[in-house]
Amino acid sequence: MSERGASGNDPAPKPDHCASCGAVLNGPFCHQCGERVLVDKDWSVSALISDAVSQLADLDSRLLRSLRWLVLRPGGLAGEFFAGRRVPYLRPLQLFVLANVVYFFVQSWAPFTGYNTPLASQIGQQIYSGIIPAEAWATDKASALNLGFAEFEEMYNVRSDVLARTLVFLMVPALALFLKLILFRQPNRPVEHTVVAIHYYAFELLIIFGVVASFWPHLVFAVFSLEALASYRSAAWVLMELGIEPIKGVYWYLTLRRFYGFARLPALALTLIVLAGLLLITFGYRLTLLLATLWSL
Ligand SMILES: [Zn+2]
Repeated sequence: MSERGASGNDPAPKPDHCASCGAVLNGPFCHQCGERVLVDKDWSVSALISDAVSQLADLDSRLLRSLRWLVLRPGGLAGEFFAGRRVPYLRPLQLFVLANVVYFFVQSWAPFTGYNTPLASQIGQQIYSGIIPAEAWATDKASALNLGFAEFEEMYNVRSDVLARTLVFLMVPALALFLKLILFRQPNRPVEHTVVAIHYYAFELLIIFGVVASFWPHLVFAVFSLEALASYRSAAWVLMELGIEPIKGVYWYLTLRRFYGFARLPALALTLIVLAGLLLITFGYRLTLLLATLWSL
């Protein structure tokens, strides 16, 4: 090599050693960190561009492959992950973070509240609404802050929307723990339940809420010209619930069959238990969101 590239602060790498990690090289790629050895054509602008294109295409193909597995082969991605085939896919948390971002973007104009639960919904529409004096707490908080209720509600909803994005992560350990409890006879380790839980919530955020729930009530309304319905939003909610529970059921049945290896009947029974558990976790999440939002204001 010539003196090209000698302008940086770091000393030039020893020949036959990886420039990134210093390991002894044996071929064009470092066996330790994967770094590629630069060749003469890397000193051209076209190489810069083709490198960027291939990086993007690689991300794209891993993303599309992961989404295809998530939708068509529930439980399959976790199986691949623990079989050691990880390079062709997005990592579980990458997929989850991506799903989180897409979901909260879509959620802002979807006909349902989803995970972000506004104050009005917290006060009147949750299973714990009759038990927990959410309205009294909100009124107390509003007067402590010297705000009218409407003003407070606006402030609450903005804060709740921010916290909702972070607290979604809490559902993963909750579901992993639930799976560990109901599948106590299975030899699976906690990390396996955790990956299954991460993939499920990526699926729920991205596919169920991000795609299906946001579009299919609109589709039904359009086909049957029901736009004139007085309670558009609550009708959308009912349609959404009717549409998504079977999808969740199919996802879990296939996961229990494919990843955990259950026979048909046990898989069916466990699917119903998981669906009930998911409902409990969702309400636990919304309650946590209420308490965290009130506390943080
Ligand atoms: Zn290296």
